[in-house]
Amino acid sequence: MKWIIDRFDDIRILRYEVPGFESLSLEEKQLIYYLNQAALCGRDIIYDQNGRYNLAVRRTLEAIYEHAETDRNTPKWEAFVKYLKKVWFANGVHHHYSNDKFTPEFSLDYFQSLIGATPENELPTDYGTKQKLINDVTRIIFDKTYIPKRVDQSQGTDMLTASGMNYYEGVTQAEAEAFYADMANPADTEPISYGLNSKLVKKDGRLEEKVWRIGGMYSQAIEKIVGWLEKAAGVAQPIQKAIIEKLISYYKSGDLREFDEYSIMWVSDISSKVDFVNGFIEVYGDPLGYKASWESLVNFRNEEATKRTRIISENAQWFEDHSPIEDKYKKPEVKGVSAKVITAAILAGDCYPATPIGINLPNSDWIRKEYGSKSVTIENITDAYEAAAKGDGFREEFVLRAEDRERMDKYGSLADNLHTDLHECLGHGSGQLAPGTKGDELKNYGSVLEETRADLFALYYIADPKMIELGLIPSLDAAWAEYSKYIMNGMMTQLARIQAGKDVEQAHMRNRKLISEWCFKEGKADNVIEKKVVDGKTYVVVNDFGKLRELFGQLLREVQRIKSEGDYEAGKALVETYGIKVDPELHEEVLKRYAGLKIEPYSGFVNPRYVPVTDGDQIVDVKIFYDSEYTAQMLEYSRNYSFLPSRN
Ligand code: ZN
Repeated sequence: MKWIIDRFDDIRILRYEVPGFESLSLEEKQLIYYLNQAALCGRDIIYDQNGRYNLAVRRTLEAIYEHAETDRNTPKWEAFVKYLKKVWFANGVHHHYSNDKFTPEFSLDYFQSLIGATPENELPTDYGTKQKLINDVTRIIFDKTYIPKRVDQSQGTDMLTASGMNYYEGVTQAEAEAFYADMANPADTEPISYGLNSKLVKKDGRLEEKVWRIGGMYSQAIEKIVGWLEKAAGVAQPIQKAIIEKLISYYKSGDLREFDEYSIMWVSDISSKVDFVNGFIEVYGDPLGYKASWESLVNFRNEEATKRTRIISENAQWFEDHSPIEDKYKKPEVKGVSAKVITAAILAGDCYPATPIGINLPNSDWIRKEYGSKSVTIENITDAYEAAAKGDGFREEFVLRAEDRERMDKYGSLADNLHTDLHECLGHGSGQLAPGTKGDELKNYGSVLEETRADLFALYYIADPKMIELGLIPSLDAAWAEYSKYIMNGMMTQLARIQAGKDVEQAHMRNRKLISEWCFKEGKADNVIEKKVVDGKTYVVVNDFGKLRELFGQLLREVQRIKSEGDYEAGKALVETYGIKVDPELHEEVLKRYAGLKIEPYSGFVNPRYVPVTDGDQIVDVKIFYDSEYTAQMLEYSRNYSFLPSRN
């Protein structure tokens, strides 16, 4: 297997395997096939959500790529292709992680000549006049000052006007916040996720939600999704059939109560081997955290590896009871934490090409409290990362002590997977809110602090003697491998993902930095974590693992308090003090050393290809192929799974 199949800019494209697919039953293969089709049909939605020009840009660039009569053996053309590959990767013109708009490395003149060399009928015709299309596309690509960020959460700005995401139009932050504050009823113990599935616009001076449903916004794509879901329902077992039908009903009504009903059914189904996420789920792309990006992931359970997570979830109550958080914020009764290790079969929407390695859903706090949550570790994706990273020189460059490297080599992937299990399966699900706290008080700091909380839970428990007792790790060395790596990454190596001069933006990166820097400062008197400079190179070394664990526990207690009480000011202070500002000198050093290794800091994936074997109109088998190339797959998806108009 060739793992790395393309590289450009700061990106590498990997393949992933789907072990076990061949031995699934025919019904399971059929179900996966239909769910995969439903997954791919939502691709345009995420482009439009990420920015209102993205579909027009993608289609214009693809038209040029496929049809322009031009010399393709020039550096200019290469720069153009690189830009297109970046747009595909980010599902838009802003970097998927940093949120900054891409800078084209070709000139405006050249771009105009490419448009001129492309037959007019190949360019998008549904956007407006050709001139308007060219003006808008040119402006968004070349005008640096125009919508420079997809999400801007910096202090003192109106986050909605400053952000290029397409979840609001003509609405200020204050107006949006007031709109949703009005909607919320503090007495409602089962609140819907206000605003989750709509765009908020101002029309004739009044605010109005454009709901994403059949007959509403994004209808053309949702109709296709639903069409495939109907086929999926036709081959699913009764429990899952009911779940899929509920999802279909919600896609038709757009009613968030129905989404909650669906989520409850979905989280309660722990028996089905094949499972899926399909919908408007995560709110990271909205600076205010109301609106969810569309994503889909189809998967099936990895039975062998799931034994590990089963042990963890069976002991969920023990972990909750022994957590270092205040007793009043502990769940008296941990419900339905179901954890499993899964094999991803397809990645789509906001999960493609860059994808998470673990998922814990649903996001609704009251559903989690009443019905629990489903937590997954996506092991075939982690395996692909690991395989692609073999021998890339990273550890030799950044890990000072041989003992740390040895521990990482020996226990690195076990510790990584266990960290993900604990983070997803217990971390997000643990704790409870104080009476009267709604859960949205932390606003733009909510996502970061939630990830911080889940990470701290994982870090604290991975070094608990209980882990050895349960047979999850052979010795605490596995935990120390995780500690060394986590702190090194949080304080230093993750900076490789950020451009010189920029701060940390992404929620997970902010949380890792927050945790590491806080522990560095709080442990200074005892020299728990030390920055060492050897031969002009900076290293981060953990001197006292036991004390570090205590610090993780202390911080977990505080972050849980902040969440439980909705203490916005304290949360803000933590994130602003420890999670964002970068030391420019260290940053430059990391970038330089990283560049020397020639490792792209971000990875994403192409999906395998699934080909149904048919007999008449019956699918009698589904074959899987690992032969997709990046560009070909993107063009294929644009050809076969593109249903939205260029403007929505
Ligand atoms: Zn998380």
